[in-house]
Parts: sequence; C-alpha cells; structure tokens
Amino acid sequence: MLRRTKILATLGPATDKPGVLEGMFEAGVDFVRMNFSHGSAEDHINRANAVRALSEKTGRLVGILADLQGPKIRIARFKDTKVRLDEGQDFALDINLDPLAGDNTQVGITYEPLALEVKPGSRLLLDDGRIVLDVINVENMRVNCTVVVGGDLSNNKGINLMGGGLSAAALTDKDKEDIKTIAIMKCDYVAISFPRCAEDLHEARRLLVAAGCNAGIVSKVERAEAIVPNVMDEIILASDAVMVARGDLGVEIGDANLPAVQKMLIKRTRELNRVAITATQMMESMIENPIPTRAEVFDVANAVYDGTDVIMLSAETASGKYPIKAIEAMNRVCIEAEKQPVVRVSTHRIDQQFEHVDEAIAMSTMYLANHSKVNGIAALTESGSTPLWMSRISSGIPIFAFSPHPETLGRVTLFRGVFPVLFKHDATDHAEINRAIIAKLKKRGVAVKGDTFIITKGDLEGEQGGTNALKVVTIGQGLTP
Ligand code: PGA
Ligand code: MN
Repeated sequence: MLRRTKILATLGPATDKPGVLEGMFEAGVDFVRMNFSHGSAEDHINRANAVRALSEKTGRLVGILADLQGPKIRIARFKDTKVRLDEGQDFALDINLDPLAGDNTQVGITYEPLALEVKPGSRLLLDDGRIVLDVINVENMRVNCTVVVGGDLSNNKGINLMGGGLSAAALTDKDKEDIKTIAIMKCDYVAISFPRCAEDLHEARRLLVAAGCNAGIVSKVERAEAIVPNVMDEIILASDAVMVARGDLGVEIGDANLPAVQKMLIKRTRELNRVAITATQMMESMIENPIPTRAEVFDVANAVYDGTDVIMLSAETASGKYPIKAIEAMNRVCIEAEKQPVVRVSTHRIDQQFEHVDEAIAMSTMYLANHSKVNGIAALTESGSTPLWMSRISSGIPIFAFSPHPETLGRVTLFRGVFPVLFKHDATDHAEINRAIIAKLKKRGVAVKGDTFIITKGDLEGEQGGTNALKVVTIGQGLTP
C-alpha cells in the first residue's frame, strides 16, 4: 500500500554518515529539511547536492525544504559554558553585559528590545521551557527576574515569552544572507520562522523571487500572535504550507493548549487549500532508542487522523542515533493509521460553490473516486493546483500528479496522497496521451489490467488552469491497453 502521509526528515551530522541517506531513501523519506539554525552554507549545499544525486540515481523524487533560522531570541554565553540556577534565586538578562561574561546571577542577550517588551510579572521560558523566569522589574535595559523553575542553563539557549508579544521581525540579516544560498540550492520550499503576520510572508516571498527562487513558502506557526483567528487565516493564505511548530509554539501558549491548536490549524489549513505539516518531538525518544514509545506511536497516528499532510523529524534524524529506524517507524504507523475509515471519507466543501472549472473537475474527481470502485487518479498538471485541490479531500485513493515540470513535481511531493510522476510526451491525440499515462502507471507497478483510473487533463496542453476533462478508464478495455 502506498503511504499517503509524507515524511519530512531534517538533515544533519547523523545523516552525513556513509550509507545513511541511502537508507533514508529506502525507508521512504519524501522530503528533507535543511535547518539553517545549524551548519554552514557549504554543509547545506553539499547535502542538497547529495539528495539530488540520489534522487537521480534511484528515480525517487525527494523534495528539499530550506528552513530559515528567523529571530530566535537567545541568551549569550557563560564564562564557564554552563550554570546552575536554583528555584527562588535572582537572575538577570542584560543587553549591556559582555556576551561572554554570563555567570549564575546574570547573562547577556541577543535581542535589544527585550527590556522594552516585558513588564513585571511577564514569564520567560528558556531552553524550550526547561527554565522558567518571572520578571521582577526592568532597570536600565536590564531585566531582573526570579527563577521559578531552575536547572542547568548553557550557552545560547533560546528565550520565549509566555503569551507571545515580542515584536522581532521574521527576517533577520542572517536570513536575508541565507536566501542567497537557498536560491543556488534550488529547493522546493522555504520555511519562514516566527512570522507575526501575513506581511512577514509577503516580504519573504518578495526577497526570494528577487533572488531568483520560486520555492513554495512554509509558515512556521510558532508565536502566540499567529493563532489569533484573523491573523491565522491571513498567514495561511499567504503561505503554500503551514507548519504546526509545536516546539516554540508550545512554549508560548503552554503545552496543554497544543493538541487543540494542532487540530484547528490543520483543519483550517486544509479548508483554505493549503498543506499542513506537523512538527517537533514526534519520535523524540528515538534520538536515543531504536523503537518509539507508545505515546509517540499515538502522536504520529493522531496527526494522521487530524489530516496532516506531512509529519516531521528533527533531531531524531539530524543528530539522533537511529535516523533510518525513525523513518521506518513513522512509515509503519502511518500505513496502519491510514486504513481507518475516518481518514478516507470527506465532507470537505460539500456545500460550497466552486470558482473555477479546474477546481470543479478536481472536486468531482474526488467525489467519484470516493463513491465508486476506482484504483487511482492520474492528474495532468502544469502548476500542481489540480492535485492540491484533490488532496484536500480525505480519501484512500492515490493521486498521481503527471507533470513535465520538475518544480511542480517537487511541490506536489509534499501533498498528502499525491505522488509525482515525470511525464513528457509529444502526442496531441487524447487517446494516445491516455495510453501513455496508463503505460507509465503500469511501468511504475501501481496499475494492472482491470484497474479503473480517473484521468484529468485539459484540452490545451501546457496551459495553467486548463483542466476541463475527467475521464474514467478501465485498463484493458476499449481504447486503453
Ligand atoms: P525549529 O521549529 O525546529 O526550527 O525550532 C519547529 C518548532 O519550533 O517546533
Ligand atoms: Mn521553532
């Protein structure tokens, strides 16, 4: 059975080891993430080249997502690398302190306006919430705090403000520099970290286009202000895909709020015809262990039930001990979860008018596929929008996106239930094109004699938005070989 939910795995030192990338391909990775918070431009370019070369060699398209660091606010450094903070003690964050001179009473920070954006009673979470500080007062840009939850704190750990409200713009100077590297790498998607509003994403898109990069944009929803209802819709609409970035988001809104937000965000993203990614700590214990915990198995399955397109691995693959096994575990959990009837039926847009003919064809195809005996769908596509519309409908029927354009094939690889097929042909006769499509499906081993497929295409090849035909063919009957 083809797995519909896509697996996105972060690359890092653990995946650079000989044979690991090959193993990840065999285990079924669909997309890789280059995390620009770590590593040099050269590391990322080398990894991207390795992925492209292996895709070429194996004939399996694996997409590339470049993830910009964004304005992650961090503490500076300690004289002795690390300090121990005890509950109840005082601790200060001070922009004017020498960035190398932290000790167990104070440390420098990288974000100038912090002192202006917190007030007495504000709660700061350091190192993904492991350390909790309450602000007592602000004196001359120095933020004096009490330690509420103590522990070890080491250099450069992140800071989040509970409830959100830090105003840093989403694109930093480093991000703008990294966009140049990304344009050379030719990636399929670029992730923007900590966007506050749609304008942050529009700006990112402008900068990417100016650098010659047409990648899709992934918004990482990881600030409290990004899930305010209207802002959230605008952010989703300004993006091609949306990531439920549970790491930072959980720190800002509190972990207990995450499950409901994940469900709401995935649902809304799909309703607005965008792609949903669920990220962070999905298989966290596999950084150290060869099998996941039961709770992690349930987390992955529940994300599938929530309708996510993509599930992501972070440190599990980038720096963990079992990167290949983590992908294998996700793969087997998804395949079983996807057998559940609840993820195969749909009431999506049942009472809506469709604006475009191609959109209406896509919707009709799914209605037909879900309500009769159909083995698969072959959608000829220029831009990828027909398979995107189709894949917003829950279904168990695979959608093969046929396109001559590598860029489109890269984009659709992220969509749940959509499988890219490189398809170039010179035929103009429709029966001949159908035969070529069926031959391609057979060659790939996903269609046999007697199978019924729906083919969608346009009268005019090469025209975007031109899909106006839906054809049902049974292989071996009539004109179809
Ligand atoms: P990160 O983003 O892994 O880049 O921090 C994801 C998250 O915050 O969950
Ligand atoms: Mn994050």
